[in-house]
Amino acid sequence: MSFSSLGLSEEIVRAVTEQGYTTPTPIQMQAVPAVLAGGDLLAGAQTGTGKTAGFTLPLLQRLSSVERVKINGHVPIRALILTPTRELAAQVEESVRLYGKYLPLTSACIFGGVGINPQIRQLKQGVDILVATPGRLLDHMQQNTVDLRNIQVLILDEADRMLDMGFIRDIKKILAILPKKRQNLLFSATFSDEIKALADGLLNSPAMIEV
Ligand code: AMP
Repeated sequence: MSFSSLGLSEEIVRAVTEQGYTTPTPIQMQAVPAVLAGGDLLAGAQTGTGKTAGFTLPLLQRLSSVERVKINGHVPIRALILTPTRELAAQVEESVRLYGKYLPLTSACIFGGVGINPQIRQLKQGVDILVATPGRLLDHMQQNTVDLRNIQVLILDEADRMLDMGFIRDIKKILAILPKKRQNLLFSATFSDEIKALADGLLNSPAMIEV
């Protein structure tokens, strides 16, 4: 099994090959086709399994395969990736940049504990993919400095950790303002009743994978 046989474009395959990856990991073999198919996904995966590329590669592929239409001179945010911590947010955005280096897509990473103004300036310029922690994203929503009306894909990464950290109310507020018609991906290492309830409310007939 190769990355190109998963249906990924030459630009993406070139970027992962440069990272030294030769074969997709089991989660990537399952997640890439499922995400490319456009439906929702519920994935059970620990860190270290290659889950980040599992959602990033098909996301990049989907966003780059349609025309990038600007609104008032700027690209709208089309994908939102929520993560529990600033470290994970930074890591995920780094993966987006690495794997998307040959594609005309931009990203930003926003998290708390640092100044909000540089983030506001970055968001104003327009990005295709936003990686964020829930609390700081909510701050931007309340200050009207982020526009989530064009989100087509929502990804919850390490959803169990986000709930453990008490982000459920923030996540619900974010979900409430997203467009209804979108693709949802939920990644979690564990499946408590709380995660199942979140998945039930969020996902429509999801593909399910577990590694
Ligand atoms: P993750 O589970 O997403 O945190 O990824 C764990 C590590 O595996 C990261 O350092 C990735 O760079 C690496 N990785 C992801 N996919 C592959 C692959 N197909 N082949 C080799 N390494 C990979």
